[in-house]
Amino acid sequence: MKYISTRGQAPELTFEEAMLTGLARDGGLYLPAEIPVMTKDEIASLAGLPYEEIAFRVMWPYVSGSFAEDEFKSIIARAYQGFGHAARAPLKQLNENHFLLELFHGPTLAFKDFAMQLIGQLFQVALKRRGERVTIVGATSGDTGSAAIEAFRGLDAVDVFILFPHGRVSEVQRRQMTTPADSNVHALALEGDFDDCQAAVKDMFNDFDFRDGVKLAGVNSINFARVLAQVVYYFSAATSLGAPHRKVSFTVPTGNFGDIFAGYIAKRMGLPIDRLVVATNQNDILHRCLSGEGYYKGDTIPSISPSMDIQVSSNFERALYYAYGEDGNAVAQLMEELKSGGFDVSQGALQALRETFDSGRASEEETLETIKATLASSAELLCPHSAVGVKVGEEHRAPDVPMITLATAHPAKFPAAVEQASGVHPPLPPRMADLYERPERVTRITNDLGAIQAHIKGHISA
Ligand SMILES: *Cc1c(COP(=O)(O)O)cnc(C)c1O
Repeated sequence: MKYISTRGQAPELTFEEAMLTGLARDGGLYLPAEIPVMTKDEIASLAGLPYEEIAFRVMWPYVSGSFAEDEFKSIIARAYQGFGHAARAPLKQLNENHFLLELFHGPTLAFKDFAMQLIGQLFQVALKRRGERVTIVGATSGDTGSAAIEAFRGLDAVDVFILFPHGRVSEVQRRQMTTPADSNVHALALEGDFDDCQAAVKDMFNDFDFRDGVKLAGVNSINFARVLAQVVYYFSAATSLGAPHRKVSFTVPTGNFGDIFAGYIAKRMGLPIDRLVVATNQNDILHRCLSGEGYYKGDTIPSISPSMDIQVSSNFERALYYAYGEDGNAVAQLMEELKSGGFDVSQGALQALRETFDSGRASEEETLETIKATLASSAELLCPHSAVGVKVGEEHRAPDVPMITLATAHPAKFPAAVEQASGVHPPLPPRMADLYERPERVTRITNDLGAIQAHIKGHISA
């Protein structure tokens, strides 16, 4: 399988190269040159298989040139062994035909573990074989950083440095980043906000001496390997509800469009998905865009579902690529217009997007109300992101098609909002109940590029 850029001007790469590269040289995002299609029989045979086996069958065509079969199977086994639920992604029923796909049983209690745990193992195996090592630097407002630290801890081909805004992440999120004791992972509390963290990371990637000197690599959500890992649970959920013999729909709490784009890939692979519903909070650029108002940036308004507080959804570029008939020049042009505020989507492209995607938004009050109402009606305690999904999913539910809403984080990760809504304090799962007692290890650092770079250089293992 070859991988091509959404902007059409970067060299074609193998899966391994695309994974290690992240962003394409033309500024675009990598996609498989062709999306493999599974037959109805192949899809039917997934029903009831262990999650790891479904993962192997769904992802194998994408990675087969880069990894051996047994090697890939053991990578998958290692990636998911630390999950706290034997089903990995269990499905719960909310009402007649609305289901909740629980994606929060991984080590950091958010769906990002599904992709990050896999990519950690993939990096380790690929780098060992090449005799290389890399330094991963990332910025986080909470969930991505903890998932990355947890995924790469103890892997000797990789050092990880995560910048988070000092005093501005939740205590659970901070402790998940600061309590792993492994010497190759480093939490840096920057004296600044999330934008300062992101700017520092960007500056490090643009400093080519530094970048080459420490062999900088990234694992943010534009990495195609992360999207691929997320395709799997669309198959496991849909086949357990009767696909391919029956259609299903999905509603996805959306920020950077990575998770829902994985659903689009699953549909193109032959999974009979009726609708893919984008659920946003008050930061609703995607809902406005799919409603025909164009793709225009506004100001980010902080919400109780902070992992969806974004203005530009980086993975939306991939959906645009297909909506514009795989025309890399058209995508490059749109991204140029985005630099000065935004762009209108052509009628043809909007129609193409609407063939698959619907959208809706939930206000802060509606989110709190949904947490309360769902606890009363179904005994499910939702995190605020999942509540945005359930509210929008319920609005888009059709009588004869099961709706599956993705529950993207555990309620205990966002205890303040959950308690405000429901009066219930969500406890941490027993396996991490001692999180508040574990010793923390964190370096507080001034918002100065030179100081950050010096710290990283002084702390990489090789
Ligand atoms: C990252 C995240 C999202 C948004 O996912 P995207 O792939 O960026 O659309 C939603 N909910 C939670 C809890 C997250 O951590």
